[in-house]
Amino acid sequence: MGYSVTTPIFYVNAAPHLGHAYSTIVADVLARHHRQRGDDVFFLTGTDEHGEPVANVAAERGITPQELVDENAPRFQAMGPVVEASNDFFVRTSDPRHKAAVQEILTRVKDNGYVYEGSYEGWYCPKCADFKTESEIAEGNTCPIHGIPLSRESETNWFFRLSAFQEQLEQLYADRPDWVVPQARRNEALAFIKGGLQDVSLSRSAISWGVEVPWDPEHVFYVWWDALLNYVTALRFGREGQDLSESHWPAVHVIGKDILKFHTIYWPALLMAAGLEVPRRVLVGGFLLVDGAKMSKSRGNVLDPFAAIEAYGADAVRFYLLREVGFGQDGSVSLDGLKLRYETELANDLGNLASRSIAMVRRYRDGQASDVAVDPEIAAAFDGLDAQVAALLDDGQISQALEAIWERVRRLNRFVEERAPWALAKAEKNDGADPAALDVVLRTLIEGVRVLGVLLHPWLPTSTGTLLDALGAPVLAWDGARLGAGAAGEVGELAPLFPKDRAAA
Ligand SMILES: [Zn+2]
Repeated sequence: MGYSVTTPIFYVNAAPHLGHAYSTIVADVLARHHRQRGDDVFFLTGTDEHGEPVANVAAERGITPQELVDENAPRFQAMGPVVEASNDFFVRTSDPRHKAAVQEILTRVKDNGYVYEGSYEGWYCPKCADFKTESEIAEGNTCPIHGIPLSRESETNWFFRLSAFQEQLEQLYADRPDWVVPQARRNEALAFIKGGLQDVSLSRSAISWGVEVPWDPEHVFYVWWDALLNYVTALRFGREGQDLSESHWPAVHVIGKDILKFHTIYWPALLMAAGLEVPRRVLVGGFLLVDGAKMSKSRGNVLDPFAAIEAYGADAVRFYLLREVGFGQDGSVSLDGLKLRYETELANDLGNLASRSIAMVRRYRDGQASDVAVDPEIAAAFDGLDAQVAALLDDGQISQALEAIWERVRRLNRFVEERAPWALAKAEKNDGADPAALDVVLRTLIEGVRVLGVLLHPWLPTSTGTLLDALGAPVLAWDGARLGAGAAGEVGELAPLFPKDRAAA
């Protein structure tokens, strides 16, 4: 089955920061999970390269906008491998193939009767590239997102008949109550719709850095439409020699709440106008806060994900971000918090569990756990976990899925303490006790750790790979995510998955 997941495309005029890394990691967790389930995954990310801010910076530097974006886009392309993103394609909106597809689709929207020429006057934020409605204007006529003064602008341009989709959008939200998650964001979008939709600009004439309007070459398409359309245009050329438009649309979108209106109101309306299906789902992340303030480049409180990854590894940062802040919520993140979770959860709870389980099998059974049935209590504790995790991920409950798995990490740790395999080994050796008791404990631990490795793969791709290799079971497929599904193989040596000296650095 085709499964498509996207990040927002990132505005190329910035340096990649933790917010970008966060969206990419969330989408990557879903992509990896769906590959485990055997889906034909297309994971798309990229850069948004048009609009006024790019043109302005290029002009200041005396270079062309294309030269500027060619210089900046690679910084975002380079971010993928650093955060271990497994994206299948990186789209750039200055790509001529994207531009041609945008022109074709928006011409179809016009032919369908949803475009007209008109004029508009309102309060405009150049950083949002958006006119603000009365309810969106912060005190002193400033942008609530950027905190900068709004300018009064009027323009004659082409309009998209958004108001024509009032009823259809209300119907979409009624028919599919979990189309936007979390619920708070869905309610926010729905309230905006119910407030009455006004037509919005489709084009601008004041700037030239954009996709030319084919029926009026003095205009370029307003950057938001061009950017949103990447989600469908890239399907045409993102996989060599194939057109994925049929098999991989609709997609699941991962976005931040600052771009909610565009993705949950403008975008589905445009798709309807073009005769295309609306997205499968929109998963809306909250803001990552540092000292209680939104992390953004313009406020200068950027937590550098690259430095954090250098210190702790990409797996640890991926894990931390999704563990610390429930996806969809706002939450604070810090290097101290990362260090704490690294030591307590990754190194102690998971790393030690894996190391000691493998070490005991090597010490007491020469590296070969017996092929006996697993402990019934642990079997019960893991029963249905695979289905639960898959369902939570499908619902966009990414942190809850991780917590469900982590409950079993803790359960297995308690199991080790309860059964004290070292005492069983001593009794075997000294008193000739029946080896069956220790066999069950060791088999349960190895099997439990293997299942955790399969389940945790989307969050911890590198370390779970190392772990599953050491267990002689390097298979990620989802049908192996059940306790007892693994064959009792020979275990090899395992170096610490999350070394303590790394955390001390
Ligand atoms: Zn703004």
